[in-house]
Amino acid sequence: MKRSIQKVIIVGQGISGTFLSWFCYQAGIDFIVIDEANTHAPSRVAAGIINPVTGRRVVKVWLDDVILPFAETAYKAMGTFLNLPAITRTVLIDFFPNPFMKESFLKKLAQKEDYISLLENEAPYAASFNYEFGIGLIDPAYIVHLQQLLPAWRTFLKQQRRLVEEPLDFEQLRAEAGAVHYKDHTADRLLFCDGAAGSANPYFSRLPFALNKGEALIIEAPELPAGHLYKKSMLLAPIAEPGIFWAGTNYIWDFKDEAPTADFRQSATHTLEQWLKVPFKIIDHKASVRPATVERRPFAGFHPVYTNIGILNGMGTKGCSLAPYFAHQLMEHLLYQRPLQPEVDISRFKGILSRPLQ
Ligand SMILES: Cc1cc2nc3c(=O)[nH]c(=O)nc-3n(C[C@H](O)[C@H](O)[C@H](O)COP(=O)(O)OP(=O)(O)OC[C@H]3O[C@@H](n4cnc5c(N)ncnc54)[C@H](O)[C@@H]3O)c2cc1C
Repeated sequence: MKRSIQKVIIVGQGISGTFLSWFCYQAGIDFIVIDEANTHAPSRVAAGIINPVTGRRVVKVWLDDVILPFAETAYKAMGTFLNLPAITRTVLIDFFPNPFMKESFLKKLAQKEDYISLLENEAPYAASFNYEFGIGLIDPAYIVHLQQLLPAWRTFLKQQRRLVEEPLDFEQLRAEAGAVHYKDHTADRLLFCDGAAGSANPYFSRLPFALNKGEALIIEAPELPAGHLYKKSMLLAPIAEPGIFWAGTNYIWDFKDEAPTADFRQSATHTLEQWLKVPFKIIDHKASVRPATVERRPFAGFHPVYTNIGILNGMGTKGCSLAPYFAHQLMEHLLYQRPLQPEVDISRFKGILSRPLQ
């Protein structure tokens, strides 16, 4: 099918904008990325965990059989290109926090649910963790190395003179029938991957965002066995440096700012003290706002009135697994008019998006 798209402007270089620009590059489309370099964006604060099961009832994540293999392949390809390990396949050691969670897990196990099993040899963990109700295994799970991947892609964009490091000035954005103009750039399409800022974006603020704030402690725990993910009432994930772990998280829907809270620090410290038998030291405390949505599904597609302005957003708690797949789907939609997954396609909000801009 003939391609009519020559140039794209992408706003945001979180995990969504990173993959959208990666697929532009792969497709040979000219593009620039405008990003204001926010070190507190969720893509810079997240642990990078991909867990194939979710919730108290231990259910498989949405579209697990297509989204997870796609993500693994996409991260590996990007890692090879940038010469870094972008993703590690691992197991999640699931310490049941109470008898009810154990019962749920065993019920799913009896139904032969994918990904889950019981840990046969608990001995390696008994020296490091306190636990009372047994241990399950979730396999495979993944750790995406966001702290290496995002800066490496940013460096590549800079080298290619494709990065504009500034906040987008909406006053200077003009969308016409045939083109989008921003300062001295002209493109066929502009795509917003602006995370939580999307809820105040004049083009897309009417979409049903349900932002929530999350926090994490970064701890030093050199005696904790490396290489796995650990879960009890919180998650522990190894990050790049040996002996350093990410510990989180919480979900705050009613918040005044993006700052870390004393409440989380206190409760997470208490949880770690109860759970870990090995010594640990807190070395950082981070917080950020997740671009979550009321329907718990991403937003992808083009504005019904400003048809050359699009969006890839609403990744919620699962940007690491959802962003590669839906960035690719949006590119295929843009280049070859292939349909978007109905649950993410913003054409379902045509009515509210067609009202005058806010
Ligand atoms: C504590 C915490 C832990 C998490 N853990 C995980 C996890 O383990 N696994 C997982 O899959 N997900 C996790 N998440 C969720 C994940 O972080 C998000 O789903 C994902 O990062 C969203 O990526 P994004 O690129 O859509 O948005 P963002 O990361 O918000 O990126 C948006 C980018 O756009 C830029 N931007 C915004 N507005 C403008 C503008 N006007 N001009 C220029 N630039 C702009 C921002 O600076 C930013 O760089 C976690 C989130 C939090 C808060």
